Amino acid sequence: GERSGAVTTAELPLREDLRGRTPYGAPQLDVAVRLNTNENPYPPPDALVDDVAAATREAAAELHRYPDRDALALRRDLADYLSVATRVLVSERNVWAANGSNEILQQLLQAFGGPGRTALGFEPSYSMHPIIAAGTRTEWAPAPRAADFSLDTARAAEIVAERAPDVVFLTSPNNPTGGTIPLHGLAAVLRAAPGMVVVDEAYAEFSGEPSALELLEEFPAQLVVSRTMSKAFAFAGGRLGYLAAAPAVVDALQLVRLPYHLSALTQAAAKAALRHADATLASVAKLAAERDRVAESLLAMGFTPVPSDANFILFGRFTDARHAWQSYVDQGVLIRDVGIEGHLRVTIGTPEENDAFLEAGKEIPR
Ligand code: PMP
Repeated sequence: GERSGAVTTAELPLREDLRGRTPYGAPQLDVAVRLNTNENPYPPPDALVDDVAAATREAAAELHRYPDRDALALRRDLADYLSVATRVLVSERNVWAANGSNEILQQLLQAFGGPGRTALGFEPSYSMHPIIAAGTRTEWAPAPRAADFSLDTARAAEIVAERAPDVVFLTSPNNPTGGTIPLHGLAAVLRAAPGMVVVDEAYAEFSGEPSALELLEEFPAQLVVSRTMSKAFAFAGGRLGYLAAAPAVVDALQLVRLPYHLSALTQAAAKAALRHADATLASVAKLAAERDRVAESLLAMGFTPVPSDANFILFGRFTDARHAWQSYVDQGVLIRDVGIEGHLRVTIGTPEENDAFLEAGKEIPR
């Protein structure tokens, strides 16, 4: 009935360090144009949908059994994709997969962070990094990016050497600001870091810059490259993230992962989706071209877009970003207030969606 569960969170014996925290929450509003969570706007092609349906049907016949705990076949396919995409040869022993790269990051902090340990990140960046740190009781050490949101990697290396965190997060391209960190900059931070360096490459396919994976041979004991099928692969609903690192890192994660964490349905669906990678990734070039068009249009309209290598653009300036965000919503366009003063972030959609966004921009108070 109505009264069942009548208790507030404050009354529960919740961990003290979680009291008063806010959960991750991109608003999910039912408006015509949704450009707020950096998804690929193009739905999967019919051939992919059919293949996923057939593959999960086959897997369904075996649902009385637990899935492959090590997801070996899927990891082999992911390794093949990465080897081609980055031209760095990796095998299934270098690759680990989980339910979205968020779970990958959580497993990394469970293994390499935790109580008494520190993770450092350069803000503004992906808001889940500190939230996952909190959940795993890893102390979060925020460090600043430059005023133009780029990362001064020489300065970053100094900060890392000074603070000596157990884990460093580098997001490249960075969410929500869009810039990529060049390889020599990543190497400088790796040299300064006493522990693990996680390069979050969720948006790598949208960038023309080389993958941090090229540094694996030089830094096998430190480097972890995190990736996802949620963005370029148009598979956000399928929940599949993965990492590439030395096999020893993959072995370490076995200590914290839950057994059978990747369902048989997820493994089958992701393998089927990967077979159509060429078709799905064809949208990447289209989205990159649209990104550049939207950035130019924003500039022409008198906004200041931050240069982006990803499928989104941070732009300003607004006197009141919150108010401006609401004004976009009122015009049927949902973008993201990421909490950076004077700025909002827009995900690149279809040309029609981008036009609707640009049109709405004419009516926005600044
Ligand atoms: N890293 C970054 C930088 C992201 O922006 C996101 C998604 N917003 C993720 C990781 C997590 O995505 P997923 O769990 O869907 O792989």
